Amino acid sequence: MEVIHVTAECYPVAKVGGLGDVVGALPKYQCKEGHYAKVVMPMYRTKFLLENEWVVDYKGNASIGEYNFNFTIIKEKNNKLGFDLYLVDILGLLDREKVYGYSDDPQRFIAFQISVLTWLNSWHHQPDVIHVHDYHAGLIPFMLKNCFDFRKLSQIKTVLTIHNAQYQGNIGWDKSKFIPSYDTYKWGDLDWNNSINPLASAIKCAWKVTTVSESYMKELRYNSNGLESLFEYEKGKCIGILNGIDNDVWNPETDPYIFNNFSVKGVNAGKKKNKIKICEQFYLVDKLPLFVFIGRLVGEKSAEVLTDVFLNALHYMPKKASYMVLGSGDKHVEQAIYNISEQHKGYFNSYIGYSEELSHKLYAAADFLLMPSKVEPCGLNQMYAMRYGTVPLVRSTGGLQDTVTDMGDKDGFGIRFSHASVGDITHSIYRGMEVFKSKKHLEWMRKHMMQIDHSWESVVAQYDNIYK
Ligand code: ADP
Repeated sequence: MEVIHVTAECYPVAKVGGLGDVVGALPKYQCKEGHYAKVVMPMYRTKFLLENEWVVDYKGNASIGEYNFNFTIIKEKNNKLGFDLYLVDILGLLDREKVYGYSDDPQRFIAFQISVLTWLNSWHHQPDVIHVHDYHAGLIPFMLKNCFDFRKLSQIKTVLTIHNAQYQGNIGWDKSKFIPSYDTYKWGDLDWNNSINPLASAIKCAWKVTTVSESYMKELRYNSNGLESLFEYEKGKCIGILNGIDNDVWNPETDPYIFNNFSVKGVNAGKKKNKIKICEQFYLVDKLPLFVFIGRLVGEKSAEVLTDVFLNALHYMPKKASYMVLGSGDKHVEQAIYNISEQHKGYFNSYIGYSEELSHKLYAAADFLLMPSKVEPCGLNQMYAMRYGTVPLVRSTGGLQDTVTDMGDKDGFGIRFSHASVGDITHSIYRGMEVFKSKKHLEWMRKHMMQIDHSWESVVAQYDNIYK
């Protein structure tokens, strides 16, 4: 099948979170299985763009409201990622360094989607499936069904994958002129609670809707930032498919970023070497259990609760563990983390910012990974951690619940808790400290986790079923 993935992120071109990882991997494994998967995304000004070779594939023009624009679609020349990668350039809108966070994001992503469909309109054949990811590509199913300009494409099947339903891209009806002309009696396909809601529209108009774990799919029916009744209504076409991880990129035996490669057999010695190096770099005590947090410092990840947890643990269980945080997000949380690093040198440190390399080093070096998320559609960090023999401490929610079992249960290998509260999270740290002392149990957990199969190969078959 020919499948076109339309997305705002794709690793290693541009990544903010899990969406980038998934779209960087799924098409590659689909191609390995014999499909013809392609990715089309905005041409941000990233390192990947500058370091690779490109050919111009298409030049066109379109309009958003009364604003006419030219766009260019370039294609990566050497199939470097294992699939055809296309970037859409619109001067003045997409030629930026960051993926999100601009006041004109609605215009940027709508113009992007219009360009993609204008490009597909120019093809002599039609792809089998257009697979859109999150709200940034969420107006495509509506536009295919209802916009006059894209009538020719109206029979192409569409699949929406929701990586995070918190972000829906709402815009006021005063901006409806951004959407190319359509059958106006279909306005209800765009509307949710008196605004244009691209995510809701995609849920209504796509042929199939998937999200990235079964538990998250169920949760959305009672907690989805206002879309609960829509998920309940559309449940017949919705399905949860757990993400895979890219074992080529996340492999402790070959990972070029980590200090010391290691296999299941040599996990204890391998992790220790990585830990000594990272503790040296961040002035931490390497004899103590090392707890790390990697991720966006936002409410969904319980970042603000974590600062209290760290202070609590450092005051009431002093000198019993080392902690390291890698992340960025809310400014007041970043400042609080920085302050703790200053106050508790030797036991707590942080890197406020984004570093792919450091994240690999930390998964390899850490004994425990903290993930007390309030909302976690799938969560990739815990799966990466497990692949590197690092015990995840997770709140039982979404994909965390589907991938981590508690060490208190039969064959359990992680630490689970129910509430994103200071008490529950601190208690999970305490349980981690205890298991750190029982070396045999810890070793069994490490070896067991590293051998769990979260590869994309098995996941691709589930997407095949959806497409069929
Ligand atoms: P989300 O998509 O909600 O951010 P996921 O767990 O699905 O959460 O994916 C997060 C991805 O982003 C992982 O690959 C993680 O390693 C990476 N990541 C998050 N923050 C950082 C950071 N500051 N530096 C490097 N990698 C990060």
